[in-house]
Amino acid sequence: MTDGQSLLLVFVALYIFECLRWLPAQSYLLLGSGTRWHSHRPFQPIALGGRCPALLSLLPPLQTHLVTLPWQFIPAEAGLELHLDARPPQLLPWAAVQTRVEGRNLYLSPELRVSCLHESHARQIKELIQAWLPMSQTERETDFLRYAKKTLDGHALTAQAKALSAQTGRLRHLGSLIFLWTFVILASLYRWLGESTLILWVAAGMFGLQLVQTWFFYRRAKGVTFRFWKALVVAIMPQHAMRAADLLADKPTETPAHPLAARALIGDEVWRKLALQFWKTARYQPSLTADLQSRAMEAFLKKQGLPTSELDAPPTREEGTSVYCPKCHAQFQAGATQCQDCGGVPLKAF
Ligand SMILES: [Zn+2]
Repeated sequence: MTDGQSLLLVFVALYIFECLRWLPAQSYLLLGSGTRWHSHRPFQPIALGGRCPALLSLLPPLQTHLVTLPWQFIPAEAGLELHLDARPPQLLPWAAVQTRVEGRNLYLSPELRVSCLHESHARQIKELIQAWLPMSQTERETDFLRYAKKTLDGHALTAQAKALSAQTGRLRHLGSLIFLWTFVILASLYRWLGESTLILWVAAGMFGLQLVQTWFFYRRAKGVTFRFWKALVVAIMPQHAMRAADLLADKPTETPAHPLAARALIGDEVWRKLALQFWKTARYQPSLTADLQSRAMEAFLKKQGLPTSELDAPPTREEGTSVYCPKCHAQFQAGATQCQDCGGVPLKAF
């Protein structure tokens, strides 16, 4: 392998690394721009410190991203219920709750650390939980329902996605051009001509594009932490210049939206599947807060024109069965009482 080829390989590795995000296991990554978005989950089998890897869109035309998060902290009478991953929720008794924020980590007790999206998210959750401590359960539930309603605000999320698309448009277009310049034009010319003066000119052209990108970024990045240093890195490193728009998308938002708020972005069909999945989990997952979660979701779904009676409709009955699992719709013969696959959900008669 020649020096040029090795260098290209290093660039590819650095670029992929630049597209990697470590997100809370329960989060949904929204990728897209304008009105076309899709969502995907982080890669759950790999988890480091409560975070799982997720890849942004790698190839041009480059897209921007947003992160949505389901409710992870729900107040129950006996304590704070934590929904941090696919496992059944954990309960932390109110007497054991001692909150502390360290960077993006939220400590709920000296031993229990939760990795939040960013520091301001950790602080916001800390305030929410602190406020619940002296309240009665009824007050906590009212406060949770208010918080849940705020996270389900589809208009706010759509407006945020629209603003982010507009704000990052130029950066993404120029980023795509720098991508093509580096990985297509420069790489093919190098293969064709080897080390020559023309290659140096093409490399100089790429550097010129990076400088223009730096200027775009610096103007757009008001309020981004370490703006000057980030701009400097965009000027020097091609992979950062390609992904400069992500630095704006990574900027902390006040309250992360719930994945179901993204209906206008992900489209009706995908949203309905997601709504069914969230409803079934909220309603039937063995949890002390199933009722509270259902109330939070019921009002929202009704407003969206998807009544829960539709989501709870029984499956078509198979011959010889008399009961079914309301969560996964598996059917059983008379005598069965629980669905073991769903963690002991009580079965319903047809
Ligand atoms: Zn089941």
